[in-house]
Parts: sequence; structure tokens; C-alpha cells
Amino acid sequence: MNCSCRTYKEAVMTDVFLTDAQIKLRGQTRDYMAQEVTPLAEKIDRDDVVPETLVRKLLAPPLRLTAMSVPKDYNGMGLSTLDVCVVAEQVGYACPALIPLVEIAQLFAHGLLFGGTEQQKKNYLTRLANGMVGCYALTDEGPGSDPAGMKSTAAKTEKGYVLNGRKRLVTFADISEFYILFAKTSPEKGGKGISGFILEGKPEGLVFESHAQTMGLRGHRAFNIRLDNLFVPEQNLLGKADEGLKLALEILNTTRISLAAGFTGLAAAAFDTAVKFAKQRTVAGKPIMENQAISFPLSELAARIDASRLLTYRVALMHDKGMRHKKETSLAKFYAAETLVSAVELASRVLGAYGASPDYPVERYLRDAFSWIAAQGTIEVQKLVVSREL
Ligand SMILES: Cc1cc2nc3c(=O)[nH]c(=O)nc-3n(C[C@H](O)[C@H](O)[C@H](O)COP(=O)(O)OP(=O)(O)OC[C@H]3O[C@@H](n4cnc5c(N)ncnc54)[C@H](O)[C@@H]3O)c2cc1C
Repeated sequence: MNCSCRTYKEAVMTDVFLTDAQIKLRGQTRDYMAQEVTPLAEKIDRDDVVPETLVRKLLAPPLRLTAMSVPKDYNGMGLSTLDVCVVAEQVGYACPALIPLVEIAQLFAHGLLFGGTEQQKKNYLTRLANGMVGCYALTDEGPGSDPAGMKSTAAKTEKGYVLNGRKRLVTFADISEFYILFAKTSPEKGGKGISGFILEGKPEGLVFESHAQTMGLRGHRAFNIRLDNLFVPEQNLLGKADEGLKLALEILNTTRISLAAGFTGLAAAAFDTAVKFAKQRTVAGKPIMENQAISFPLSELAARIDASRLLTYRVALMHDKGMRHKKETSLAKFYAAETLVSAVELASRVLGAYGASPDYPVERYLRDAFSWIAAQGTIEVQKLVVSREL
């Protein structure tokens, strides 16, 4: 088996759950990221932009990040959820700002897979597989944790719908050729009156209001958008009218899995940096790793990172086997998010003053982690989902 293991020895810990093909996929992704992306990660953060050439490279073979979950029938890669997690972890390790690219492709593809007609699947999935980008606009101008309370509306007309309202934090909306967007078709029914729509191109009435600034995950760009009498033709309704919230949550219940894998990747990167530093940094004649006050928290973190990965792999396998996994998705997502927070915090402490220095990646990891963990539902919302399933 050809695999270039890192210090956190993920291979030893979890290879037992992976096929030879998945181990190979992991190694290939890791090598590709190390060569093409890691050298650019700092610049991406500094400039707050992912170069267009890099985006195009990542959408082309061998990675084809937008094609991963698209079935082979639509010219996609037909990867399993576990395969996608294996890739997402390596992307999160190398440059978390690129995970949103993986995630919006997952959101768009699963929207079509779960809600699309055969014609819509043929039309959009095929183009997604060929390197086009689709995004996902659920979060309204109000709290993202309460999509049922969204204010955006879609009024029925003779030939379609007219949308009005605001959408926040629409990731990579600028480079997306397609959008899945949710609005209320029956506002009087609350959460039971929401519908999903597919937008194509940048139609009249889709107004970019601002680029949402963040302290971390810089390079990933999210936009606040206004829907100003935006017309959507009847055939672009996604799924059944008024059943959009169910669809939106079903999509998230799947895509949160690879997001947890991305969190695990960044946690592992912070952990590796801390272990390497602790072994090299000598204080009073011995490496700080020889102090249990340093090595024991690192041991605990090693266990948490393994647990995050295992929870993520478990739910990925459950999804791939067609099992119900609402509780398991949210368990993996909140546990991986909390592990990420402990990883960046510990790494920062272990590095002393260097934890805040731009000479080391840990200050970037810290900013990335705190800018990222709310994506696709906060830790508290995941715990709410779990508690309702207990
Ligand atoms: C990096 C990133 C990318 C994103 N990309 C997209 C995208 O592409 N498309 C999109 O539609 N959205 C996107 N979002 C938005 C994301 O889904 C929301 O940020 C998220 O749902 C939380 O909403 P909020 O930020 O409005 O927080 P709020 O909902 O206002 O929550 C505020 C606080 O209240 C807590 N809280 C809320 N309800 C409860 C409760 N019942 N019990 C306990 N605590 C509670 C929350 O946990 C949080 O701590 C993105 C967010 C991030 C960070």
C-alpha cells in the first residue's frame, strides 16, 4: 500500500474502515493538495481570494470537486459519501477556504438528487459534473437557525414565480452558474409553506448587495443578495411546492457529513503543527513535549480527532447503506466542530507567542475555525437535533 502518512498517523488509526481504493484516493488527494494548494494557502488568506486558475484546476481532473457526488449516469464521478469525506478531510487539512467549494457542490448535487425531476437532473447535474458551479441559498436575512421563519417570498404567477427578499452568506455565489434557493410560496403556512427553486445564470432581480467579510476562511467568498422581483419559470421549481423546508433539511442532513470531515482535517493540521513544535521547542534543556502539561492534552486531542473521524466515517457509511442517520449526522458535526475548536486553541497555547505569529499557520487556523463552525447549522442547533432524537 502506497501511503505517505502524516504525524497524526490517520492511516494506522482508521485504515481498517477504508477500502484500498479509498486509501489510494486519500493519498492522491493529499499529494495533490500538498503540491498545488498548500503553498498557496497563506496567500489565499492574505489576499482573501482563491485564484480563478486554482478553482478551475480543482474542478478539472483528477479532483473534479464539483463532480464527486454526481452519479456516473450524469457524467459524474459517482463517489460514495465516505469517498467524499476522505477527500474533504485532505482539503480541510491543506486549505479550509476551499472546503466551501466542496460543500456548495454537495449541497447543489444533493438538492437535485433528492428533489429534481429527471429532466432537471440531466440538465444541471451533467453541467455540474463538467466543472460548472452551483450554490445554495437558504439563510435569510433573519437567524439562520430558524429557516422556517424566513421572510423571502415567491408569489405564483401564470408562468412561474416572482421572488422577493434577502439571502445571506451565499457561498461562492459570484462564481456560481446555478443556485438552489428557498422562499415562501405560502407564507401563511410558516415552515410548511417554503419551496425550493433553481436559478440559472445571474437573472434580472438577483442583486448582489455585499461581500460578507470574515476574519477567517478568507478566500472563500460569501455574498448577501437581494431578490428584487426575480422571475423564476414554473419548470424551475425544485421538488413539490410548499415542501422546500423538508428538502432543505434533508440536503443538510447529508452534506453536514463531509463538512465534519473538513473540520477533522483542519483539527489534524493544527494538531500536527503543535506536536511538531512541542518536539522541537526546547525549554530549560528539554523539549516541551516531555512535560506532561503539554503531552497529555495532546494525547487527549489525538483521541478526539480519531473520534471525530470515526463518527464521520460511521455516518458516511450509514448514508451509503441507505440507513436513516439524522442523529448520527448531527453528532458527527457538532463533535467535529468542538474538536476543531479545542485543536486550534491547544495548538495556539503550545506554540506560546508563536501561536499568534503569522510565521506559523496556527493563528490562521484559529481564525478559520471560528469563521467556519456555524456553517450548515451551529453546534447548538446540532445538539438540538440530537436531543430531539434521544
Ligand atoms: C462559512 C459559512 C458559510 C455559509 N454558507 C452558507 C451558504 O452557502 N448558504 C446559506 O444559505 N447559508 C450559509 N451560511 C449560513 C449558516 O447556515 C448560518 O450562519 C447558520 O445557520 C447560523 O445562523 P446565524 O449565523 O444567523 O446564527 P443565529 O441563527 O442567529 O444563531 C445565533 C446563536 O444562537 C444559537 N441558537 C439559535 N437557536 C438556538 C436554539 N434553539 N437553542 C440554542 N441555541 C440556539 C446559535 O447556536 C448561535 O450560537 C454559512 C455560514 C458560514 C459560517
